[in-house]
Amino acid sequence: MADWEKRWNPLRQEWIIYAAHRNKRPWDGKGHLASKPEPSYVSDCYLCPTNTRVNGAVNPNYENVYVFDNDVPILGLHAPQVNKSAHNDLYISKGANGFSKVICYSPDHSKTMSDLTVKQIAKIIHEWKKVTLQAKEKQLASVLVFENKGEITGVSNFHPHCQVYATDFIFNHTLLELESMNKYREERNRNLFDDILQAEQIDKNRIVVENEKAVAFIPFFAKYAYEVMLMPKMKSKTLLDLKYSDIEEISEVYLQLIKKYDALFDMNFPYVMSIMQAPLQESNLDYQMYFHFQPPLRIPGIRKYLAGPEIGGGNFMADTIPEVSAEKLRSS
Ligand SMILES: [Zn+2]
Repeated sequence: MADWEKRWNPLRQEWIIYAAHRNKRPWDGKGHLASKPEPSYVSDCYLCPTNTRVNGAVNPNYENVYVFDNDVPILGLHAPQVNKSAHNDLYISKGANGFSKVICYSPDHSKTMSDLTVKQIAKIIHEWKKVTLQAKEKQLASVLVFENKGEITGVSNFHPHCQVYATDFIFNHTLLELESMNKYREERNRNLFDDILQAEQIDKNRIVVENEKAVAFIPFFAKYAYEVMLMPKMKSKTLLDLKYSDIEEISEVYLQLIKKYDALFDMNFPYVMSIMQAPLQESNLDYQMYFHFQPPLRIPGIRKYLAGPEIGGGNFMADTIPEVSAEKLRSS
């Protein structure tokens, strides 16, 4: 295994440059980013039970998961119906249609998902499935469920929660994956997602957690040092294809993975998690849904800064090799 090479990401059709030999250089960047403990209840937290939110609504004294419409929505079914174009359709504006919701994982402000039980995580996944169904029934094109966890992901409230954006357009990463998937089918008459899952299971050295129904691995082509794809093994284009028993077992892998993150870094490990799902109104797709974890920390205490290659050029440069990170995370 070389510590200096570039790898092709067949899902997103891009090169990632791995230059682990650079890690030998002394690092004079920022220090530890450990999170401080939070109290169980915060009187001015708009997500804690019984508190009043910005629009005057009062949260119920909820005991498990609590879902509500985002008070300051980025998308709405009542968004202004804009439909404009200018310069011969070069510049186009349309209404920001869709819906946005907030899902609180627990009434306890101090908890993170890794403090919960498998059953509680399964309950959260059922809520994710429910919002996916709502978006489908409202004839929306796609739904993005995501969690920004930890201060360095820019989260403004530490109460354990995630957000849902249901849209009348398909998000760019999904569009790109669909294009890659179709191209792969055309060229090889095979399913790209099946082949990635199979390749990871043959190589084995990037797998972090696995059971009968799901596998979590740092992909061969990871951009972030501890980026993980958690993939159900059964054919599932969206969460709607998952059965009750599947969700239970997926929750086990989910919990083990995030516990390993916390253990390796000895902190509430920050990440952006997004649920990648097929477009809701299309059928006969090769798409395989997965939970995508993209943590900004590359070694304990040091974050990955996006700079020239990423922001300027659009390709990632990593200082770590996926197999090495996977070994660390697996044994944590
Ligand atoms: Zn709270």
